[in-house]
Amino acid sequence: MSFLTGLKCLRCGTEFPPQKMFRGCPNCRGRLVSNVACTYDYGRIKQAFKKELLAERPPTMWRYRELLPPDEENIVSLSEGMTPLVKCPSLGERLGLKNLYVKDESRNPTWSFKDRLASSSVSMALQFGAKGVTASSSGNHGASTAAYAARAGLDCVIFTTEDYPMTMRTLMQAYGAKVVSTPTRKDRWKLQEAFVEEYDWYSTAPFVHPPPGYEPYGVDGHKSIGFEICEQLGWRAPDKMVAPVGGGGSLYGSWKGFGEFFDLGFIDSKPQMIAAQVFGPLKNALAKGLDYVEEVPGRPTVAFSVGGTGGTYQALKVLMDSDGFAETASDEEIMEMQLELAATEGIYAEASGVLSLAVVKKLRDMGKVAQDETVVALLTSGGLKDPPTTQEYLPDIPLVEPDMDSLRKGLAEAYGYVLPSV
Ligand SMILES: [Zn+2]
Repeated sequence: MSFLTGLKCLRCGTEFPPQKMFRGCPNCRGRLVSNVACTYDYGRIKQAFKKELLAERPPTMWRYRELLPPDEENIVSLSEGMTPLVKCPSLGERLGLKNLYVKDESRNPTWSFKDRLASSSVSMALQFGAKGVTASSSGNHGASTAAYAARAGLDCVIFTTEDYPMTMRTLMQAYGAKVVSTPTRKDRWKLQEAFVEEYDWYSTAPFVHPPPGYEPYGVDGHKSIGFEICEQLGWRAPDKMVAPVGGGGSLYGSWKGFGEFFDLGFIDSKPQMIAAQVFGPLKNALAKGLDYVEEVPGRPTVAFSVGGTGGTYQALKVLMDSDGFAETASDEEIMEMQLELAATEGIYAEASGVLSLAVVKKLRDMGKVAQDETVVALLTSGGLKDPPTTQEYLPDIPLVEPDMDSLRKGLAEAYGYVLPSV
């Protein structure tokens, strides 16, 4: 048996026994919608879980299984987690940061951070005896849910729209999910809600508006990001963690992970959490002192995974509780950073993920990060999820004749590059 004791509303504090809860707290609905979060028997966890045990455990997120929701026999795993925390000295020097790290989540089984959520969420789907798994998704989430449903032997239906990269939809279908498109995002939520009500399948993603956030057992999978960062930094927390935020599942999960390790006495401080967004709904909410997140204007963006114009209370609460803040970056700043990271550190990250680093660069310019602070930027997925967008920011590859003068001319014309003298 796991150490899970139930669920608790982040806003009103109402507690519930363990159950499926896809719509957030039933007492907090509408504008003040709030997610619920998993609660555990921390007294028993303290007895059972010692950090010394980790040396013998495999390098997956399930090395922290006492702090995760499913019973051990229901765990659906593809060896997700324990992704590298990569120090970036070259980019750090360019940004004036001595201790800049990226958590490279492209090293997960379906190449994104969502595998942590899907592994925990689909494990709980098995535990609750679900007949199938479903989600509404723009890409990474749907691909990951499809893969873990396949691993669990559960049927999977994914609701999407037509304005997302072919790679994402191909992944979902390749993993065996039945993928359908609806005319708009709101249509897909409406249809998915009707589907869940009629067939009682397990939903790994929210389908009500405004959204409470991802379902609580999946969000707890993201705690492993915080656990791993502490372990990889030698049992300490960074000074600042910057994460791209749509629904805020990874922001909230990481923060909860840092908090649990702090309470267990494994680390002696917690980081300031910073939300990176395109349109800034969290920045707007903080500036106005709101205790909910209102919609802000939006448009199509290269960072489509986090291109929402709304937000969740759980993300806002993390920023308030950690004395954190939110900052935005434009498409141009994101794409510039995508290429700068790839060319200086050899890491090609998804535009939505590299938003975190684009925000770090802005914060340095604004004087909001000191040069000796330890900063961790979450890179949520790899660039191969959407190469055509990157291609738009790259020069055409020159076709050159097979002689040295043509080579020099081609390099100069396409790249402005002059070969160093011999
Ligand atoms: Zn509530």
